[in-house]
Amino acid sequence: MTKKIHLGCIADDFTGATDLANNLVRAGMRVVQTIGVPETPLDAEVDAVVVSLKSRTIDPAEAATESVRALKWLQDQGASQIYFKYCSTFDSTAQGNIGPVTDVLMAALGIDFTIATPAFPDAGRTVFKGYLFVGDVLLNESGMQDHPLTPMTDPNLVRVLQAQTQHKVGVIDYKVIAQGSAAIRGRIDALRQEGVGIAIVDAVSNADLMQLGAALKDLPLVTAGSGVAIGLPANFGITANPQCAALPEPKGLQAVISGSCSRATNLQVADFISKGLPAFVLDPLLLLAGDGAVRDALAWAGPKLAAGPVLIYSTAAPEALKRIQDQLGVQQAGELVEQALARIAKGLVELGVGQLVVAGGETSGAVVQALGMHQLQIGAQIDPGVPWCAGRGMHITLKSGNFGTPDFFTKAFEQIA
Ligand code: ADP
Repeated sequence: MTKKIHLGCIADDFTGATDLANNLVRAGMRVVQTIGVPETPLDAEVDAVVVSLKSRTIDPAEAATESVRALKWLQDQGASQIYFKYCSTFDSTAQGNIGPVTDVLMAALGIDFTIATPAFPDAGRTVFKGYLFVGDVLLNESGMQDHPLTPMTDPNLVRVLQAQTQHKVGVIDYKVIAQGSAAIRGRIDALRQEGVGIAIVDAVSNADLMQLGAALKDLPLVTAGSGVAIGLPANFGITANPQCAALPEPKGLQAVISGSCSRATNLQVADFISKGLPAFVLDPLLLLAGDGAVRDALAWAGPKLAAGPVLIYSTAAPEALKRIQDQLGVQQAGELVEQALARIAKGLVELGVGQLVVAGGETSGAVVQALGMHQLQIGAQIDPGVPWCAGRGMHITLKSGNFGTPDFFTKAFEQIA
């Protein structure tokens, strides 16, 4: 029988799940990421499991049901602390799903308090006085205001979360964090007295997250981006150990699939093309006519793969994206493109691709499902938040839209080699 796990994590998308797993691995935990809620008990000896859901933009009630199903499975594997992971840019729609999922997890655990913070300083996400910064600018100036599915137009996380949850939302600000773990625990007690159910927590450095982590030792539920994870393994007596990130040898051909329209991904696509490497753009309108565009993309890629990585992308700048969305509808356009890219990924693997970079959270979800991956082993990171993973005999990396340096698509293959 496998040993009990310490930390049970529920991630609201697939790239977010690898981002979290990456931070746990770097802090010394052995981690497996599952695609969806497993049907059977865990068959691996690890310290943490990250169950990846695709629940960020689905109906809030459905997201709640799936998250509770994940919670029950993690509890059955012995998890003593639960971590609900969302995006470091707090991606949500007007209905949720960060608030509704947190509410239902709190109810299922029978608790009246948790924290919420997307802070991830290594990736430039900092929270100050409850306001979220991305790099040097506020969330709503970061490009996230143009996100296809979850446009973020308010950087004040108390307001954003309060609109989605039945609990009262408060703040643990940087002054308390600066005083260390005991002060943070004191503030948590005071907030509970005031009837606050969820506290947005400031953090601008990894040192802040380490103090926070120690203060969260006995909290049954943590909700956060991936940053908070760096301070939790120590609570279980675990310290950093590079062995945790070992993966099998990579093999097979190399390709990049990009369905993210974020600013960072637009730069990464431009960088790949500027290096003279082969790139094929997928036109969403052609997809309306059937599978012809998918077949064209694969026919284009086939003869090129032997020479090195190819890129197939639907990534578009905000104006072009808006034109398509106005014509097709946001959800319909998203679904159509995701499914097409997923079929292309499957086709590429059939052509011999064994090292695949996928850009875009929703896109990654669709690709991983199409490839029939159920479990990923987490390896070394390429950039903050993005590790190589291994599963089903191949290597894959799932890059959340806003992550990675401009040369990410080529750097990923250099690193794995
Ligand atoms: P990110 O990680 O940047 O948020 P996602 O993959 O999660 O990226 O979301 C991007 C969404 O935009 C997906 O649903 C994708 O199918 C959709 N999309 C991608 N390219 C286009 C396009 N050219 N037109 C319309 N929608 C698109």
